[in-house]
Amino acid sequence: MSAAFAMLSRMDIAKTIARVVVDVPARALSDPFDYRVPPALAAEVSVGCPVVVPFGPRHCLGYVVSLEQSSAFDDRLRDLEGVVGAPVFDEHAITHARWIAREYLAPLSESLKLFLPPGGAPRVHAEPGGGWTLVGRQMSPTSDRLVTLTGDHRPRSNAVVQRAVLAALEAGPVTVAELAAEVRGAAAAVRTLERAGAVSVSDRRRYRRPGGPNPQSTRHPHTDEQAQAITRILAMVESGGGVALLDGITGSGKTEVYLSAIEHVLAEGRSAIVLVPEISLTPQTVGRFRARLGGDVAVIHSRLSAGERFDQWQLALSGQVKVVVGARSALFAPVRDLALVIIDEEHEPSYKQGQSPRYHTRDVAEHICAVRGAVLVLGSATPSLETMTLADEGVYERLPLTRRVGGGSPAPIEVVDMAREFAEGHRSIYSRSLTQHLRSVAERGEKAVLFLNRRGFASFLLCRECGFVPTCESCSVSLTYHEDIASLQCHHCGAARPVPPTCPRCGSAYLRRFGAGTQRAETDLHTLLPGLPVIRMDADTTARKGGHEQTLRSFEALESGVLLGTQMIAKGLDYPEVTLVGVLNADSSMHVPDFRAAERTYQLLEQVAGRAGRGPAGGHVVVQTYWPDHPAVRALVMRRPALLYDEERAVRHELGFPPYGRIANIGFSGSDLRDVRSAATTTAEALRTGLPDGLTIVGPAPAPIERIKGNWRWHMLVKGPPRSDVSGALVPLLAKVAPPDGVTRVVDIDPAGML
Ligand code: ADP
Ligand code: ZN
Ligand code: ZN
Repeated sequence: MSAAFAMLSRMDIAKTIARVVVDVPARALSDPFDYRVPPALAAEVSVGCPVVVPFGPRHCLGYVVSLEQSSAFDDRLRDLEGVVGAPVFDEHAITHARWIAREYLAPLSESLKLFLPPGGAPRVHAEPGGGWTLVGRQMSPTSDRLVTLTGDHRPRSNAVVQRAVLAALEAGPVTVAELAAEVRGAAAAVRTLERAGAVSVSDRRRYRRPGGPNPQSTRHPHTDEQAQAITRILAMVESGGGVALLDGITGSGKTEVYLSAIEHVLAEGRSAIVLVPEISLTPQTVGRFRARLGGDVAVIHSRLSAGERFDQWQLALSGQVKVVVGARSALFAPVRDLALVIIDEEHEPSYKQGQSPRYHTRDVAEHICAVRGAVLVLGSATPSLETMTLADEGVYERLPLTRRVGGGSPAPIEVVDMAREFAEGHRSIYSRSLTQHLRSVAERGEKAVLFLNRRGFASFLLCRECGFVPTCESCSVSLTYHEDIASLQCHHCGAARPVPPTCPRCGSAYLRRFGAGTQRAETDLHTLLPGLPVIRMDADTTARKGGHEQTLRSFEALESGVLLGTQMIAKGLDYPEVTLVGVLNADSSMHVPDFRAAERTYQLLEQVAGRAGRGPAGGHVVVQTYWPDHPAVRALVMRRPALLYDEERAVRHELGFPPYGRIANIGFSGSDLRDVRSAATTTAEALRTGLPDGLTIVGPAPAPIERIKGNWRWHMLVKGPPRSDVSGALVPLLAKVAPPDGVTRVVDIDPAGML
């Protein structure tokens, strides 16, 4: 027995039980299971280690969440079978996962998954005779090996070469070149195995750096407001915690504040995580961080392959990088000594995860920072009403940035009443004023950005005589009109059908599209201003990997022209040469059945408008709408956010919606309407009689979208006072009324939407 091992076993002599969360995809296991740690594995095992355990007749991968001295099941315990690698998360992560599981009613195993290397878990294959094989990516950066294999493994592959490759790997570290020398055809076999997820090659996967010099890397003297904000953030870091709201208009230099704060944190050898909405995780944003912070940055986003994401994760885990930039899941990156978490555009709905665990990034970040002694900075030009209210109450520290760094005032905003345009005989989707401004852009050789909140050729058909709108029978949403294939398509379930020649309800021939799509807007623009280059950016043109990047590059390369696109152009773009911004149809987001529709409309309009006039040439914004008196439009035009926020406060206060209440949305779905309705009713009755004082039920009722993919949907709301323990109240009551087979029940705490 080695000296180190002897010492370890003396220290941990009593800790012979490993509590393990078992990774069984088919089952939502909430509780960890206890296993005996055999002496041979005692030195290797610690909290956070991936391990192999017997589970029923199977062998499963699991993660050690604690080491104990004894177990309530002492006499029935089975042995841990293998330790797969070094720890992949720390004790804090377990605290966080437990918090998430409790707060959002999720199984612990699911919450814990958030903290695991993405797409990297090896698989355990049972072998005849009781042995097992472990194949997959290595879980921790302990070596440069292709795969880590532990236990009694006998490769089962039928292909001779693959078997030879797996056998060669057992010997230890092997590069592809070495393998190829040893086994004929090994390179191809390795690729096959890699595609199958059976092995991973660590030295061929490198994250590509965006090339070329970056003008953003130049440093400017800070404005007084920036300096003040940085000082406050660093003081908070010094004192070990707190939440700040960086409340800064577009172009006020928020990113510069983030960068400086991160630089200070790095200088102390500590780490930072920067979260941005997936949609604004553009090469431009990433480039800015890389240019300033150099090789110290890992980037995690959905366009990376599983292997690339895994690599970025490992860079953080090994301490090689201290800054992680990414979408919401990057919050769980295993950086060391976390000092700062930044959530940019904190109001974005995409910070709420749409599947279990249905966590809100902002709230989880607040919890993580509190536990780890880190500071949370929320940045936005249009903070959510929730965050705004906490800042008003002094719970969050407000750090205002009221001026644009480039000096100058924001671009003036002009509202065009489209109903009036129509009445006066102008039926183009480009109003007279917008056309005029586009013409000037073309004449002066400048650039414009046009925003359209739609996908497809045109949005939906509307009968001008009777108001009929064709909708999907199984989804109760309006069908999208695709002119190129002359069909109506449901954007929920994908069902398509031909365009009817006349209105199915009244027979009128005036069945017209309402609102145009990006293709139509592009065609019309070409007709209006032939010769002016137009770059279209929507879900269709950016579907390919790197498509987003390429589209932006072609716009950058233009001398003069127009970038025309959906909401993805609203975020993060910083092109000083853009002098005109046009919103073709502000109305689409106003009609969404959600209590946040007005707030969302305002946030979107403000984002888009902020793309204009970022350079010395100034700019102009044209907003076209059928509803010019909408509070979001008025707040935007008058540059008085209070017009929107005050009205919203009044409405939400009256209805008990956030921030004046906390809500949970309980959804039911299934193919049998009666089952779904009765499950909803039964649950509602149980809650009504069982909920503590202060919590109330609204509903049950059909969901705003009553049917999706043939499934009927009902829902109800649970309302309580702000910050009340809605989850804690629901768990015991819901446990008593499980929905019947065929009905799925989903609980969404603090939902970001009602659909
Ligand atoms: P925001 O994130 O608030 O929209 P940015 O950080 O993108 O604002 O800043 C807008 C522009 O101003 C960027 O081009 C940035 O490089 C530049 N900038 C930021 N801070 C300063 C400063 N103190 N002096 C000069 N330019 C600055
Ligand atoms: Zn009609
Ligand atoms: Zn449908």
